Amino acid sequence: MTAPGTHLPAGPPGGGHFDPASGVWADVVGQEAAVAQFRRAASPEGSLAQAWLITGPPGSGRSTAARAFAATLECENGTGCGQCRACRTVLADTHPDVTVVATDKLSIAKEEVRALVMTAQRSPATGPRRVVIIEDADRMSARTFNVLLKSIEEPPPSTVWMLCAPSAEDLAPTIRSRCRVVTLAVPSSDVVAELLRRRDGVAEQLAVRAARAAQGHIGLALRYATQEGALAAREDSARTLLGLRSTGEAVLAAQSLVDRATAEAKEHADAVATEEKERFLRSAGVDDGKVPPALRAQVRQLEEDAKRRQTRLVRDVLDRYLLDAHSVLRDVLSRQLGTSSELVNIEVAEEVERTAANGSGTITLGLLDAVGQARARISGNVPPLLAIEALLSRVAVSLR
Ligand SMILES: [Zn+2]
Repeated sequence: MTAPGTHLPAGPPGGGHFDPASGVWADVVGQEAAVAQFRRAASPEGSLAQAWLITGPPGSGRSTAARAFAATLECENGTGCGQCRACRTVLADTHPDVTVVATDKLSIAKEEVRALVMTAQRSPATGPRRVVIIEDADRMSARTFNVLLKSIEEPPPSTVWMLCAPSAEDLAPTIRSRCRVVTLAVPSSDVVAELLRRRDGVAEQLAVRAARAAQGHIGLALRYATQEGALAAREDSARTLLGLRSTGEAVLAAQSLVDRATAEAKEHADAVATEEKERFLRSAGVDDGKVPPALRAQVRQLEEDAKRRQTRLVRDVLDRYLLDAHSVLRDVLSRQLGTSSELVNIEVAEEVERTAANGSGTITLGLLDAVGQARARISGNVPPLLAIEALLSRVAVSLR
């Protein structure tokens, strides 16, 4: 057995030396144990399970890990070299034997999964394996899980399923019991900052700041580092939160948050919808923008998809806000408990210190609970405005 951190056992001839920094695992940062597990399974001595469940918090790199694993299985050198055509096409999502399903909608449709099951039945066209990756496997209904179940139970010998989800509990027990589970850790701010510097060319100081604010969420860190005003908006929200003193202020703040989240979601959803509609009409040979009656039903379907996507995005944006609020309150608590740990929200250190001095740990703990409750409500079916209003009112009353 290979110890984590050492290089792969010698692969087939031509494999050469494996350099983790240039191979397909280079961008899977802060996940030494998981990477070792994948590489062992992919090595000639390893036993390769045919259904994998890759879990880890959002932004920990689940889908990056799945692609790297798929590339290792398809690699012409058997090592995940990152250089051969197979490795490069898998990472670019253009390998003919690797299918990746991602969704920004609320759920993955049963028809979509049925099509995947058909794909999974086929033998690979070029590589040694057929790989099907489902990025948001938690967004399937129980009935959709049933469609998947049979194929996961008895896949053709060369097929490998890789499901990604926040936690194993997000999947039906019948599915997860048939998968080998690999759990990713929350990567540390240091490794995320290093990744932003190396992969995205972000300047050192900005990379460190963005990584700290994102608290181990790689995609969010990149957004903070590259999207103008994103870090400033986060700071603003933190200041507003700690400055709430009356229910009236809380109601206004909640409305403005939900408005901003809706606008951000709508802008993104509209852009995607326009692009999808144009692509669809072009592929149907329509170039004057007029939708012929025969295609109306399909166009309407695209528009409905866009609406569902927008709903999902509003919740995602608000959830991000709630995670930020949680980190601000945790900073307050850490000061109240007298720990010497560095604040996540250094930019609002003054407000954090003041809030800590004026309140008590018990109150702050209650507020942290309330944030968790608001997140649960929004991911359930409570209208986001109600959930945020309730939370901010409670913050205002507690900090008064
Ligand atoms: Zn390769």
